[in-house]
Amino acid sequence: MSARLPIYEIESQIIAELKATGRMVLSAPTGSGKSTQVPQMLLQHGLLDEPKKGQVIVLQPRRIAARMLASRVASELKVHLGHEVGYQIRFENQSGPKTRIKFVTEGILLRQMIRDPELKDVAAIVFDEFHERHLYGDITLARALDIQEQKRPDLKLVVMSATIDSDQLASYLGNDCRVLHSDGRTFPVDIEYARKPSYENRAPIWEQAADAFCEYARREDPGDALVFMPGSFEIHKTIETFRHRKEARGYEILPLHGELSTKDQDAAVSRYQKPKIVVATNVAETSLTIDGIRLVIDSGLARIPRHDPYRGINTLLIEKISQASADQRSGRAGRTSSGVCLRLWAQSEHQDRAVQERPEVQRLDLSEVVLTLKEAGIVQLDEFRWLEHPGEKRLATAEELLRDLGALDADGAITEMGRRMLAFPLHPRYARMLLAAEEYKCVQEACLAAALTQGRDILIRKVDKRTKDLREDKFGRKAKSDLFVLMKAWSHAANNRFDLNECQKLGIHAQAARQVGPLFQQFTNTAKREGLSLHEEPATEEALQKAIILGFSDRIARRTDGGTLRCEMVHGRKGVLARESHVHQAELIAVSEISEIGKSDGDVNTILSLATAIEPKWLEELFPDDFESKVEVWYDSQARRVYAHEARFFRDIRLGKKMKEPPPLEQSAMLLAEEVNAGRLELKDWDHSVEQWIARVNCLAEWCPEFELPPITDDDRKTLVEQICHGAFSYKSIRDKKVKGLVKEWLSDLQKTMLNDHAPERLKLSNGRTPKVKYSAGEPPLISLRIQELYDVKETPTVAMGRQPVLIHILAPNMRPVQVTQDLANFWKEHYPAIKSQLARRYPKHEWRDL
Ligand code: ADP
Ligand code: MG
Repeated sequence: MSARLPIYEIESQIIAELKATGRMVLSAPTGSGKSTQVPQMLLQHGLLDEPKKGQVIVLQPRRIAARMLASRVASELKVHLGHEVGYQIRFENQSGPKTRIKFVTEGILLRQMIRDPELKDVAAIVFDEFHERHLYGDITLARALDIQEQKRPDLKLVVMSATIDSDQLASYLGNDCRVLHSDGRTFPVDIEYARKPSYENRAPIWEQAADAFCEYARREDPGDALVFMPGSFEIHKTIETFRHRKEARGYEILPLHGELSTKDQDAAVSRYQKPKIVVATNVAETSLTIDGIRLVIDSGLARIPRHDPYRGINTLLIEKISQASADQRSGRAGRTSSGVCLRLWAQSEHQDRAVQERPEVQRLDLSEVVLTLKEAGIVQLDEFRWLEHPGEKRLATAEELLRDLGALDADGAITEMGRRMLAFPLHPRYARMLLAAEEYKCVQEACLAAALTQGRDILIRKVDKRTKDLREDKFGRKAKSDLFVLMKAWSHAANNRFDLNECQKLGIHAQAARQVGPLFQQFTNTAKREGLSLHEEPATEEALQKAIILGFSDRIARRTDGGTLRCEMVHGRKGVLARESHVHQAELIAVSEISEIGKSDGDVNTILSLATAIEPKWLEELFPDDFESKVEVWYDSQARRVYAHEARFFRDIRLGKKMKEPPPLEQSAMLLAEEVNAGRLELKDWDHSVEQWIARVNCLAEWCPEFELPPITDDDRKTLVEQICHGAFSYKSIRDKKVKGLVKEWLSDLQKTMLNDHAPERLKLSNGRTPKVKYSAGEPPLISLRIQELYDVKETPTVAMGRQPVLIHILAPNMRPVQVTQDLANFWKEHYPAIKSQLARRYPKHEWRDL
């Protein structure tokens, strides 16, 4: 029978292409035979025998598909499942050394690549359902291309997809890579929409599906039908509802989803005498084909994995599927003959749906994948061969979380803790939490806490006073963790079998609480499977608090004051503790949920909820490497003194501080010097004579560069002031400090002699007088003398080895300048005779020589 499947029309092309280039994209509609036949073709044509016998690994997005495809292929080949044909999914390995065709999911192949970078036993890899763009598909393909190019040119790679949108993919795979396409066989499908928009229909989705079926059955014979529901709970409800409808009498009604036993899964695809109604999750969308379906009823919903930034985890919430998914679903009715699809939403709503779902790499939390890549030795994530880059920020967020959880070191390399976490098939947060829970002997409780942080809040937030009081009577007013309150509420609901009335009385969301049960079970099973001991004795609150804190350590916050709910969080974030939190006493908390609520003024309020109290001393115990002491030094302009704190930091939040006395020398000197240099503090001894000395040094350095005197720049001046301030903490101790000696140490003794010789403080004139010289940068040296004091001085005196004639202010007896000159000889000759008699008349008592 399989020989008649459409894929066989291009069998020879597939084989030829793979032999030639080793890479290929294959697109063919669902049901063509891609998943079951292509691996067999590779085996039969000997593509798994060169250069040595190896296996083909088929990467599947869904566990149930991996298992069912393996079992189908095993039966087609008439071999035992687990021998020649096998599968491996997260919690189950049905394969052995003889296995030639192996279906796997998620990180299985990626981890195999880490253990065995050459993939010694693998001859070919098939990436199935690639159009769904699952995270692990993207990442594993990137690694496989590297391996093929660098180590294994003989490795065959096939990328398969149900749609033809393969341009981006083909160019990613390189020029040589061909895209093969098969049209398959499809029949027309009539699509009927609901008359009323879905928001006007208040009936549960399973009632709506049954109504649609019954109405159709009254007009036409439905034949075999396939109903799409988002999850096992809704599937269960749907089956119950259908069983009560007379139109469905005579039908075999069967569920199909991942949580069923193998036997029940097989039952859904088997043939019966009676017609059948299969109620399935989106596994029946493209992964598995159920033959003979003529009627599809589509709820339009699916559980879609998505990163929830509020909780910092990946969640599986029920959402509307995209138009592309809806088209795939309706196509299931046209496999063997024409068919009908009933959509449970109105045509007017259809256009509002997303055209396509975004690739997972764009919407999931990347921390688990990043940790796997780190284990593979890829330290620089930017250099990874992304099919689609997830964006710097999302990578940085993932790395930051992993660093906080202790899975990566400061350089971004994986730690021993990171490796242990990776062995756990869970989001790194929960891997860390459960590993901690084992240590603190509270695995069961941690599993429940983890389950409670996954879905919707089970406690209704806004309740009336009576309910609130009742709740507080039962679960307490204060708590060490809001999660403890949730745990009590959940246990109460569970003990009352999620009875609607009992739950309502206490403001418990019965349906949300019910959904926690299976998750709790799932976490517990995982813990058991990974060898953690589920301690019988109840754990202490402290133990569980610590496990929770370790899982949410990227969200540790400190209350900034006692009066308000304001908090500062690690990584520079701020927020407000939720008013309804039961943890009001603790200064330090870890929060499991962060939400942003827009305020009327356009700002956003960051609300921190599900808090867990932290004792300060625990932080040191839990995160010994994340502490740092920092000294903060400042100048107090009122006290005119430097002070210092020693502050203790956990990551970037300050936990406490104490005065540090004395403050650090260097910084104190710098702060005081800054005040002096800005002119706000005055050094008494730094007077005019110091300034003159500096001016002399700078002038001579310029006039006689061959002396190589070091000039005193503005920066040098600051350094000098800092030296003066060294050892001081207050203005008091520098105000009267002697500075002259220190400043003059700028020059060596020899240099000082040069200075005195060539830029002297006083000049020696030929008439024996010794006037003071005034120096300033960029100007000639200057002296001021009365005419009488200059008699007998014929020529202009000079400094700097005769290079700088002195500028002379020649004064009258009243000390007013009569002439400013650098040419004294000319003065005596030209000007003096002219002014002499005039001055002599005015100042007869002075001497007026004739020259
Ligand atoms: P594709 O991957 O192209 O969607 P498959 O290889 O999954 O196609 O399936 C091809 C055909 O094989 C289906 O149309 C169906 O007829 C048959 N088939 C596959 N799996 C099973 C099964 N478990 N039971 C019965 N028939 C099956
Ligand atoms: Mg398939």
